[in-house]
Amino acid sequence: MDIAIVGAGLGGLAAAAVLLQRGHRVRVYEQAAQLGEVGAGIQMSANAMKVLDAIGLREPIARAGVRPKAFEFRRFDSGELLHRLPLGEAHEQRHGAPYFQIHRVDLHDALAGAVRALAADAIVLGARVCALEERSDAVTLRFDDGRAAAQAELVIGADGIKSVVRRTILGDDRPVFTGQVAWRCTVPTERIAPELRTDIVSTIWCGPRNHAVTYYLRSGDLLNFVGCVERGWEEESWTARRPWKELDADYRGWHPMVRAVIDAVDRDACFRWALNNRTVSARWSTARATLLGDAVHATLPYMAQGAAMAIEDAAVLARALELPLPLAGQLAQYAAHRAPRTARVVRESTEMGELYHIQDAQAMREAFVARDIARSRNEWLYPYDPWQVGIH
Ligand SMILES: Cc1cc2nc3c(=O)[nH]c(=O)nc-3n(C[C@H](O)[C@H](O)[C@H](O)COP(=O)(O)OP(=O)(O)OC[C@H]3O[C@@H](n4cnc5c(N)ncnc54)[C@H](O)[C@@H]3O)c2cc1C
Repeated sequence: MDIAIVGAGLGGLAAAAVLLQRGHRVRVYEQAAQLGEVGAGIQMSANAMKVLDAIGLREPIARAGVRPKAFEFRRFDSGELLHRLPLGEAHEQRHGAPYFQIHRVDLHDALAGAVRALAADAIVLGARVCALEERSDAVTLRFDDGRAAAQAELVIGADGIKSVVRRTILGDDRPVFTGQVAWRCTVPTERIAPELRTDIVSTIWCGPRNHAVTYYLRSGDLLNFVGCVERGWEEESWTARRPWKELDADYRGWHPMVRAVIDAVDRDACFRWALNNRTVSARWSTARATLLGDAVHATLPYMAQGAAMAIEDAAVLARALELPLPLAGQLAQYAAHRAPRTARVVRESTEMGELYHIQDAQAMREAFVARDIARSRNEWLYPYDPWQVGIH
């Protein structure tokens, strides 16, 4: 098939790679003039790694990434351990692929390299799609810089939370501000005193109406910090910088490791943006257009699964397109299979925000015991294999 993918984020590139591998002719239209990702980390669990493995990315990810030993959930001030989810060898043995933390730029570069190795001219830059016109035999994509329209038999909207393709399929529903914003910064690990550094784990520091996540990247040389605070509305932009003193104020009184990161961060490199959700929809497609990733199931990042879901989508969509059904039926099977799982991730990620932000220390301890995150995620989230799950 001639397939047009709108958006060359992690989801769009993963879809391009798996569809090219299966012999489709693919064009990825990306609005940015240059490919890129923001300077932050991302976590990839076994469920997504199985797709990245099939694209041939295990080796570059292993080279650029870090394999954490565990998720550790700790109280924001005392550092008391509230819950532990083993990763490392345990994750790989249980779920058949490793858990990695990797710089977004490194993952995005690896995906773009894989796509270009399969089809050198597959990614078209500076191409902002502004409208789709669907007929019974094809879809026309129009661009806002006046370039010639493009045709495809299938359009995949991987164009993120402000998706134009979604608007065509589902109407003009808007992203919903969650009342939470995220600080993002990275710090060279050498700036943190050795006695303050955590082990090679992903630590979630849980505090009243606020939590922070710290983990290592690039062989441990870089430390990634994300701080999620309940606040009033602000701009949804990955590139908006905010004054360091506001970051400092949000984390005053926190654990010495968190404080060390904040004290070590470059004062002009503190980014903060609004966290938005999407209303979950069971409908993902028309007869010749469908959605993938944040365009259809944007979520709070509190289970570290947004991009993993986009990558799972890519594999299941590629498989659905091989079912002995007309295209509309294939797309219906794709959505029927993916909608419940991604809706659960959106719902549970929101619930994690409530858990991580409990004010009272004893109530927080009890809530972590009741939730048993390690058991739950090991049961339903990580074992999912997008290449094996039954679709008909
Ligand atoms: C703080 C934070 C931490 C996170 N951590 C994790 C994590 O650890 N693990 C994880 O799995 N997920 C994580 N996520 C979620 C993850 O970042 C997103 O789910 C993922 O990046 C979504 O990918 P996407 O390809 O669907 O969309 P995007 O990354 O938004 O890509 C969309 C692309 O489409 C392009 N585009 C948009 N409109 C148009 C148009 N009209 N025409 C052409 N191109 C267009 C954009 O320029 C962009 O390149 C985190 C998110 C946040 C906010």
